[in-house]
Amino acid sequence: MSADLLQGSCHCGAVRFEVRTPIVPAGRCNCSLCRRRGALMTPFFPAGALKILSGEDSLTLYQFNTKVARHYFCKHCGIYPFHQTRKDPKQWRVNIGCLDGVDPYALEANVADGASLSILEDV
Ligand SMILES: [Zn+2]
Repeated sequence: MSADLLQGSCHCGAVRFEVRTPIVPAGRCNCSLCRRRGALMTPFFPAGALKILSGEDSLTLYQFNTKVARHYFCKHCGIYPFHQTRKDPKQWRVNIGCLDGVDPYALEANVADGASLSILEDV
């Protein structure tokens, strides 16, 4: 899959970024967070492929369960633009709905079984 340079933003425009990643295979996840936020996500890409152009100070971090994954939200509009994954902290994924010129509803998506990864035994 080709990795195009894509531009994206949160809803209010405070957070703008560019990312070099393919958009397929796009993914959804059934973990407790993803099923609530409902985002369609890009494949995994290395951290260096994401560049925040503006609004880094508008991002707020949410972590839960194992606290490995880092989920970023715009603190003004509440939109989730990207997260650092739990599977490999050097890998990130972007919310496809935040990318300019990409229709997330036109893409086929698999649902990852994040729910069974999210159980932490020793808390
Ligand atoms: Zn925003």
